[in-house]
Amino acid sequence: MGIRTGADYMKAVKSRQPEVYLGGRRITNLADEPVFKQPIKEMARLYDMQHDPKYQNDITHVCEETGERVNNAFIIPRNGEDLQARRRVFEVWAEATFGLMGRTPDFLATVVTGMATNDWFFRQYGDRWGDNIVNYYKYIRDNDLFLTHAIINPQNDRSKASNEQEDEFTHLGVVRETEEGLIVRGSKMLATLAPVTDEVIIYSYPSFKPGDEKYAISFALPIDTPGLRMYCREETQNGERSTWDHPLASRFEEMDAVLVFHDVLVPWERVFINQNVEAGNLLYPKTGINLQPSHQSAVRGLTKISFATEVACSVADAVGVDGFLNVQNQLSELIQGAETIRALVRVAEYEYVMTPHGEAVPAIVPLETIRGILPTLYPRAMEILQTIGAGGLLMSPTGADFANPETAEDMEKYYGGRSGVSAEQRVRLFKLAWDLCGEAFGQRLVQYERYYSGDPVRKLGMFYNTHKRNNPSYEMVDKALRDSLEMAKDTVAN
Ligand SMILES: Cc1cc2nc3c(=O)[nH]c(=O)nc-3n(C[C@H](O)[C@H](O)[C@H](O)COP(=O)(O)OP(=O)(O)OC[C@H]3O[C@@H](n4cnc5c(N)ncnc54)[C@H](O)[C@@H]3O)c2cc1C
Repeated sequence: MGIRTGADYMKAVKSRQPEVYLGGRRITNLADEPVFKQPIKEMARLYDMQHDPKYQNDITHVCEETGERVNNAFIIPRNGEDLQARRRVFEVWAEATFGLMGRTPDFLATVVTGMATNDWFFRQYGDRWGDNIVNYYKYIRDNDLFLTHAIINPQNDRSKASNEQEDEFTHLGVVRETEEGLIVRGSKMLATLAPVTDEVIIYSYPSFKPGDEKYAISFALPIDTPGLRMYCREETQNGERSTWDHPLASRFEEMDAVLVFHDVLVPWERVFINQNVEAGNLLYPKTGINLQPSHQSAVRGLTKISFATEVACSVADAVGVDGFLNVQNQLSELIQGAETIRALVRVAEYEYVMTPHGEAVPAIVPLETIRGILPTLYPRAMEILQTIGAGGLLMSPTGADFANPETAEDMEKYYGGRSGVSAEQRVRLFKLAWDLCGEAFGQRLVQYERYYSGDPVRKLGMFYNTHKRNNPSYEMVDKALRDSLEMAKDTVAN
């Protein structure tokens, strides 16, 4: 089949009945549910870009194996050019969503491609698992499927291992094996965009303790598999507010859901790791499967911080405060922050490394540095935006006030910006800024940047430990001490 159109994607969404709950209701028609309607259209727009001559050659390629056109996220990178080709889809799709949707289909396409590229890892525990991941990769590539993923367990008692939780199956685990496959029960938190995807893949961060065997699993399933429930978080917008009033929140709601498996059958051909603590814990460190998706996240994060910077500069300019030194300092801080991320993305690509298995991977240190900086830079960008926009961010009327003949004149008179910025321009800009830095929608975007790929506190700790392992001694310090000792001898001699 190869690349899908937006209509193909929407048809697939409409054809399914996944078990989705939102606000105490079972949602039976996702495509017409206000909260999901626009985000589904945004996703369809991305699929349509694959067919747009303006983008097609940049973000898709003809697959050598099938002769079909497929998305560049499915490229197995063998050199720097492959990484660049792949980056184009990350960039084009991130720009189409202003970096505000982190889990567009390229993200998990890249994860599964990384797993299939490293099928040797799965084969260590049995050829069938290696065959399964390669076949699954081909299946989602050739059908252009959209996946969500759920890595972490629900946040019940983090001081205890999975096997020590009060209920044996609070955390997702295997109840029994059957001829057809595994029966799994329990929960995983959380899966972004899950209700509107085609499939879900389950795997975990390295965290298993002895006794956790039944929880150390990896598999994939269609999102409407019987017994799989999705509990959505409360929506950040109700889907009925106009894009005039909420130009971002009304478009890019990425619904997050907790997944609950009620004795769900996972067919054997969809199992990649089966109750194996060692495999569960070594998946990340041995295969580096986080690296290729970190490239996607870095490119997407760069778009998001660049967008936030543009919004802050526009707000400051619109009300004539960007001549003040304090405002200039804040804006420069943001511009330089975005520039730092841009430089790090380039270094990660330029200094790519070839693994012993022939995979070109972006350099890890700059990617992890981005991961370390953005959880503080992005919230800081929101603080700067709130500070520069100040009270004006809260005082915006609605599009309806502009449309009302009784109030339209006051709108024009009292809501205009600096000379040359009309009331409508200023209000619409401030509303966009408030969506980003004030609305619940914007607060989720901050939380996303902090936590989307794990706890930044522990990630920084791991980063330092790796740094120390790779630097058993510090050459410059040794040299400075050696040189000064030599000099001290001369001093003593004199
Ligand atoms: C908006 C959003 C979207 C997300 N989307 C996805 C997704 O699509 N798929 C997915 O799998 N995950 C997703 N995540 C989840 C993400 O992986 C987790 O939020 C992240 O791993 C942190 O886990 P937690 O939220 O359970 O926090 P916890 O691990 O419970 O941490 C809570 C606090 O306790 C501290 N803490 C906990 N344990 C330790 C420890 N051992 N040592 C030191 N400090 C500790 C942490 O530093 C933190 O301050 C998403 C998260 C967010 C916010």
